[in-house]
Amino acid sequence: MKFIQREDWGAPASSPAAYLPSAHGVKIHYLGTAYSSRAHDKCDDYVRSIRAEHLANKQENYVDIAYSAVVCEHGHVYEGRGAHKRTGANGNQELNIRDYAVCALLGSSGLVTPPDAMLSGLRDAIEWLRRDGSAGDWIGGHRDGYATLCPGNRLYAWVQKGAPRPGGTTTPAEGVYTVKSGDTLSAIARRLDVSWPELAKANNLRAPYTIHPGQELKIPAGGIGREAPAFPGTSSFVLGKSNPAVTTLDGGLIRKGFTRHHDGNGYQAGPVFTEYTRLNIADFQRSRSELSGDPDGYPGPLTWQLLLS
Ligand SMILES: [Zn+2]
Ligand SMILES: [Zn+2]
Repeated sequence: MKFIQREDWGAPASSPAAYLPSAHGVKIHYLGTAYSSRAHDKCDDYVRSIRAEHLANKQENYVDIAYSAVVCEHGHVYEGRGAHKRTGANGNQELNIRDYAVCALLGSSGLVTPPDAMLSGLRDAIEWLRRDGSAGDWIGGHRDGYATLCPGNRLYAWVQKGAPRPGGTTTPAEGVYTVKSGDTLSAIARRLDVSWPELAKANNLRAPYTIHPGQELKIPAGGIGREAPAFPGTSSFVLGKSNPAVTTLDGGLIRKGFTRHHDGNGYQAGPVFTEYTRLNIADFQRSRSELSGDPDGYPGPLTWQLLLS
């Protein structure tokens, strides 16, 4: 994924938008205005102009760019509000709490046909929000449940096909299993070395547990995704104290997008267990039902396992 973090396109490191523990899915948007194809070195300018326009919109009273992410025609994914932040783009608060919002830099005149690179970038953004933002499987368009033409007929037709990668070549993200024909949930679970209820839960599947070829299933922690290193012990995490395991822990927080607490200069990986580290860990613990009973911000074995796998 060609990912451009907020601070790299000129937005403050962390969005002031409300925290979002998880989402039902991802809604795709387009600009719906005239937009002309441009060289990639002009895309940053355009993303900044969207943010400026949103901040100037007194009627909506936006606190930030409204989208979770913006994808350009060259397939770069610009971090908008980001993972675990409530979007402002879906039309009302109920819809904003329900789904993330990803906007393609595609117009209603000018550039109106999404290039393959854009579709790949949109797919990357969806997978990122699933992986790091606890988004569910659902993919829709702004027009689903809201009176708008967005995201336009061409993009909406692609969304309705399940937002496939162009050319049918799926490059699965880390920790994703693509269902093959003849697969059953229990056979996949055996292959991935997880229990089938865990697999069903990780993918929001309910009885009768229907799966279809080409569908991407998230591999739950403990499966053959990323292997978490051995837990270094609770004594590695003492407020104000330095330990190499804290740098590893920070890597997990950054990958999963739990970085809203920082010293004003963005959250960086480092060996010292700071109060910012503790608050970001507490956010992660609150986001996972297995951990939410005791979100004290100090990692135990399960927090470590879930954060680093
Ligand atoms: Zn829209
Ligand atoms: Zn671009």
